[in-house]
Amino acid sequence: MTILVLAEHQDTQLDEATAKAVSAAGRIGGEIHVLVAGCGCRAAAEAAARLAGVTKVLLADDPGMSNRLAEPVAALIISLAAGYEAFLAPSTTSGKNIMPRVAALLDVMQISDVIAIDGPDLFQRPIYAGNVIQTVRSADAWKVLTVRASSFPAAATTATAQPIEAVTVPASAGRSSFVRNELSRSERPELAGARIVVSGGRALASAENFTTVLAPLADTLGAAVGASRAAVDAGYVSNDLQVGQTGKIIAPDLYIACGISGAIQHLAGMKDSKVIVAINKDPDAPIFQVADYGLVADLFEAVPAFHVSLAGRAGT
Ligand code: FAD
Repeated sequence: MTILVLAEHQDTQLDEATAKAVSAAGRIGGEIHVLVAGCGCRAAAEAAARLAGVTKVLLADDPGMSNRLAEPVAALIISLAAGYEAFLAPSTTSGKNIMPRVAALLDVMQISDVIAIDGPDLFQRPIYAGNVIQTVRSADAWKVLTVRASSFPAAATTATAQPIEAVTVPASAGRSSFVRNELSRSERPELAGARIVVSGGRALASAENFTTVLAPLADTLGAAVGASRAAVDAGYVSNDLQVGQTGKIIAPDLYIACGISGAIQHLAGMKDSKVIVAINKDPDAPIFQVADYGLVADLFEAVPAFHVSLAGRAGT
């Protein structure tokens, strides 16, 4: 079987999600190629060429691939489809945008958010907000998968680079065009890949409290800030910080939940974190059922105290 992994990258740099998708592809078994589609993206292709398990990188370096709109990238993958039996992308915004279109054009099902691969046609994926793990056997000629990056280790980087081959980008059907990007800029680590996440819930009660109570702790820990949907819906933080079933699914080394009840939809986004710390004033809050360390306390006292003690130790 030959597998094509769609790279997640920022043109000049390859995202770790690609290395994780490559290691997932390794569990299917077969030859692994990586497709790097972008504009000015040779550096990302060079990084992909050094991932363990990869035998070839296809480089689609073309202005039509900038912004990676679903329509042209899916058309590119379809133009390559004859040489492959499986297509795989990380379950990122791009992967989730592009792969359903690939599956529809190939007239096969997509298997979404795969968390384990038991063979070339046998995949596990969570359903009902992660409360049930479904095992799917696919008899389709082409397997089209999105894989949850947090469920797979990153493929190692090797000293030897595999060949990079340029591929021709099909002419655009002109169905979509890029209008603009509105990016929130932050000095903090990106939520999806952060090792430590300090997350706040409705209990924070205002945007200002996120800035004055939670952010100093996050900054001292070098952590990303996350939030529950209730906090996002209340307008305390922007929705790109939402953790959960309808937000980001993350598995940091340390997740600190402050004033978050632990609804199943929130747990679906963070319960695979290696260590979970919960601060909540309700001893019966469901978050304590998944927490490794729980503190029954008022977050407005506990979080600043925690910060002061950490900052004191760090000498800041
Ligand atoms: P609450 O449930 O109101 O909990 C607040 C907590 O703060 C309570 O436990 C309380 O004891 C504690 N508290 C209050 N004051 C203090 C204080 N001073 N100090 C310490 N603790 C305090 N939610 C998500 O988070 N992410 C999702 O992706 C998501 N997707 C959803 C999808 C669907 C289809 C649906 C139906 C819901 C979804 N939700 C999601 C919403 C989810 O069900 C919960 O409503 C939400 O997670 C609750 O957020 P919260 O814990 O901040 O608020």
